[in-house]
Amino acid sequence: MAKYRGPVCKLCRRENEKLFLKGARCFTAKCSFDRRGYPPGQHGRTAQFRRRRESDYARQLRAKQKARRIYGVMERQFRRYYEESLKRRGLTGLNLLQILETRLDNVVYRMGYADSRAEARLLVTHGHFDVNGRRTDVPSMLLNPGDEIIVRDGSRGRTYFKELRSLAEDRNAPEWVSRDLKNLSGKIVRLPERIEIDGNMNEQLIVEYYSRR
Ligand code: SF4
Repeated sequence: MAKYRGPVCKLCRRENEKLFLKGARCFTAKCSFDRRGYPPGQHGRTAQFRRRRESDYARQLRAKQKARRIYGVMERQFRRYYEESLKRRGLTGLNLLQILETRLDNVVYRMGYADSRAEARLLVTHGHFDVNGRRTDVPSMLLNPGDEIIVRDGSRGRTYFKELRSLAEDRNAPEWVSRDLKNLSGKIVRLPERIEIDGNMNEQLIVEYYSRR
């Protein structure tokens, strides 16, 4: 269960856009990208003024890296998801995004039970959720339509979960998941459609990146 442990805001600056990796902080004046919206590194400030035509490969690589960073997935795992998406019926790019969306940590985030995917991952690894009645602490677990998650009885007394109902009320959940805030539970209704997945990702470029190698 490897994960990126470096500076998070640097990733937004590298991708030259806000990836919203830190939850509420991303909407405050503390956002590093808003304060220093140029690439990281010694020459980052001057690089933003340099006009460079990006090669196809560079655009494909950036699309892949951006998706990886948004979902917090390491390269080897991401490649495995791509291989799995090839085996599924339908469009490979959409399959890939659906796989990423149905990771347990992402579902917890989508249901509004965490402020960011990183927080959701932490909650899952600390074993606060049951999936279909069984405790799980694997954030990369892939869920299917019909699967149910619920905050475990032993975790409900914690301050975080006591306050979670009111916090989650302000967070919108997409239609492909249903949630029961009173019960702190939720269910996957169906797989997400493309329009329900963050629009600013180019899955076609990701597919091109992996198919050329
Ligand atoms: Fe990115 Fe959020 Fe950091 Fe801003 S605060 S740079 S959006 S992770």
